Amino acid sequence: MKHPQTIDYAHHVSCIDTEQQRPGLACCYLMRSGDRYAFVECGTSLSVPGLLRVLEQRGIGVEQVAYVMPTHVHLDHAGGAGLLMSRLPNAQLVIHPRGARHMIDPSKLIEGAAAVYGADQIPAMYGQILPVAEQRVIVAEDNFRLDFSGRELLFLDAPGHARHHYAIWDAASRGLFSGDVFGLSYREADGPQGPYLFPTTTPVQFEPEAWARTLDRFAQLDPAYVYLTHYGRVGNVPKLAHELRRGIASYERLARHHAAAPERHARIKEAITSHALAELRAMNAPLSEQQARALLEFDMELNAQGLEVWLDKQKAA
Ligand SMILES: [Zn+2]
Repeated sequence: MKHPQTIDYAHHVSCIDTEQQRPGLACCYLMRSGDRYAFVECGTSLSVPGLLRVLEQRGIGVEQVAYVMPTHVHLDHAGGAGLLMSRLPNAQLVIHPRGARHMIDPSKLIEGAAAVYGADQIPAMYGQILPVAEQRVIVAEDNFRLDFSGRELLFLDAPGHARHHYAIWDAASRGLFSGDVFGLSYREADGPQGPYLFPTTTPVQFEPEAWARTLDRFAQLDPAYVYLTHYGRVGNVPKLAHELRRGIASYERLARHHAAAPERHARIKEAITSHALAELRAMNAPLSEQQARALLEFDMELNAQGLEVWLDKQKAA
């Protein structure tokens, strides 16, 4: 039986590939405190067998998992929550107040994903999306503190990418589990100047002003590391935060520039793709243009869609 790729970091944090589309695209984290474990993110239902195999391979009993903590309810992070919870008898689901009802009744999430990807794509992309029983759900308000067997976790409301998004501050590792709100950064693009990081403006709640405030709060914590869901742990946090802020500003500018174009979607998508390619070239990233386009295609499509939703909301306001 094949096992997902894993990376073990210090402080009992491991990255597990959730095997969505390609290796290195999306991960979840397994954290240990004493003899108990917690998952941050869970991938889709299709990811769950792999996560269970990792537990088995490491001799971790399913009853030792105390928490499942999806950072937000986008399906690549939380789609597998119902199935995973059904296999973990003692686990509680910790979720943002705006996400809780969608975990208990996932029908709106399924509809939302169908609107973005097409209903026929949902089973192949996400498998079956199961509900979580309400009595197993812990709602994490802003500044909620969770005592995970002596390892304190602080939950911060973290809008900008989605309003149902929290981030988790793990003081033990001085690390922040950021979901999608610290952007995307793929290890294939790492060059001599380090990682390349760019915004994720997936529909439908990109809010640049709220995002800036979220990054201000993160900076106050002075993280040594950020644990990205897409993909893996990164250091040099102030530099990357600066690049993310610049990236968000560029996205706003490019989207506005093409707002009235007849082929708005295609123009915005090409503009943000060209912007990324230029930055990768400037950083001497080890990718040809063709490789970089292939690596970023899926995100650029979603980012362009999300920027269009943002433009339309501004017009309506
Ligand atoms: Zn997301």
